[in-house]
Amino acid sequence: MPRLVDPTALHGKVFSQGWRAPAGGAAATTEPATGRALATVGTADASDIRAAARGAALAQPAWAATPAAERAAVLRRAAQLLEAHAPEVVSWLIREGGGVRGKAEYEVGAVADELWAAAALPGRPHGHLLPSQPGRHSVGRRIPLGVVGVISPWNVPLLLGMRAVAPALALGNAVVLKPDEQTPVSGGWVTARLFEEAGLPEGVLHVLPGDAGPGAALTSDPDVAMIAFTGSTAVGREVGRTTGRLLKRASLELGGNNALIVLDDADLDVAASAGAWASFFHSGQVCMAAGRHIVLESVAEAYTERLAKRAEQLTVGDPWTADVDLGPLISDGQLARVKRLVAETVAAGARVLTGGTHTGPFYRPTVLAGVTAAMPAFREEIFGPVAPVIVVADDDEAVAVANDTEYGLSAAVQSGSAERGLALAERLRTGLVHVNDQTVNDEAHIPFGGRGASGNGSRHGSENSWDEYTQWQWLTVRGTALPYPF
Ligand code: NAD
Repeated sequence: MPRLVDPTALHGKVFSQGWRAPAGGAAATTEPATGRALATVGTADASDIRAAARGAALAQPAWAATPAAERAAVLRRAAQLLEAHAPEVVSWLIREGGGVRGKAEYEVGAVADELWAAAALPGRPHGHLLPSQPGRHSVGRRIPLGVVGVISPWNVPLLLGMRAVAPALALGNAVVLKPDEQTPVSGGWVTARLFEEAGLPEGVLHVLPGDAGPGAALTSDPDVAMIAFTGSTAVGREVGRTTGRLLKRASLELGGNNALIVLDDADLDVAASAGAWASFFHSGQVCMAAGRHIVLESVAEAYTERLAKRAEQLTVGDPWTADVDLGPLISDGQLARVKRLVAETVAAGARVLTGGTHTGPFYRPTVLAGVTAAMPAFREEIFGPVAPVIVVADDDEAVAVANDTEYGLSAAVQSGSAERGLALAERLRTGLVHVNDQTVNDEAHIPFGGRGASGNGSRHGSENSWDEYTQWQWLTVRGTALPYPF
């Protein structure tokens, strides 16, 4: 079977009316574990984005008019192609994004789910018949927005692009995708090739990797009706400012600082396992990672000991050449951020129980005890394998401490009593909350999204896509026009 992505054939190119060299030039994409160059990918500038958005706007009406069954078939073929090329895509996710094999395999499965879920959308009812005046046929119907700009991050690059690209296309929009410059292949080329091979008409999807410059150009482009942005809260605010000024729709899926609450009746071995997974999966570089372990006083020592023991047993290294639990941090900048947060938190009085060290980009899983609400590791999103533990007196204080953040993405409660866990969960201000589970959870059909500084109320996930990627139109038809009184 020929490869899905051939770096030699695609050298220096972007996908925009076919494969071509962009005006913005090209850059190497590198392996964070080794610093080695993996491929040379075209990078967009503002003129490339402008041309892509125009091309998308011209291609969109014909795509929207394509029968629903044909649109669905393209999505299904993309899913089948992904499944057929899964090992190749997994290898790009491991090498370019630094994720371990299990994370990469999970991601490919989740992307296939997104594609199958999106394929089911075009065949669903997309409006309703409304009562109206005699002789007047009155319909409320959902119509596509036009061109949707998708801006995605590096940490789960294929999934976080596809969860917007697939439903937007399925519902008749054209899409311009700008993946992060650190993952242009796994977050960009792979998506482009899947839809090219699946038979999506030329011009309906454009994929142009690049940094903040082309991102800002896409956000303000006059042909773009909506931006689906996933990334940091700081950049999300900027995107929101621009889309607000230009009256575009925006879906903003932003940072998190998620609480895992451990009550005194929890099974502490299971809770520590959930806690370790929530803070250390993908080296904590996940928006839903547990950034705060909030533990009731009477079990705090026993829980923290168990968590530290699990952290010590984890292996860290190059996920491409070794079977490790954690891979590298994505960049020097991310490493510096994690080191700063740990150092400042320790200077403020917290203790490192394990970790706090690194070899190159490989940061050891770290447990911080004695963390309080004033400390940087409590207040800021860490995005690294660090588990700060905060001790509280009772359930009420656990709720107050968990809600003491501007973020509101995910939360979890561990308790021997589902009723007690649920009563507490209902008081947490988050978009996602789990009883007797951990914070990192997603499925293709759930209403995924955050509150507060974690997002603007947008929700990803199959049925919710109708609200995100279509707009209502009232349409009336009379057989014969009637005269008005004057
Ligand atoms: P980031 O905000 O730096 O970058 C995200 C994307 O925005 C990239 O494609 C980047 O090139 C682009 N960008 C940067 N500046 C821009 C600008 N001025 N205008 C338009 N686009 C611009 O985020 P990151 O560091 O790559 O990703 C990590 C962050 O993303 C974390 O805060 C994490 O919590 C968050 N995240 C959220 C979710 C979610 O679903 N809520 C999922 C994954 C990651």
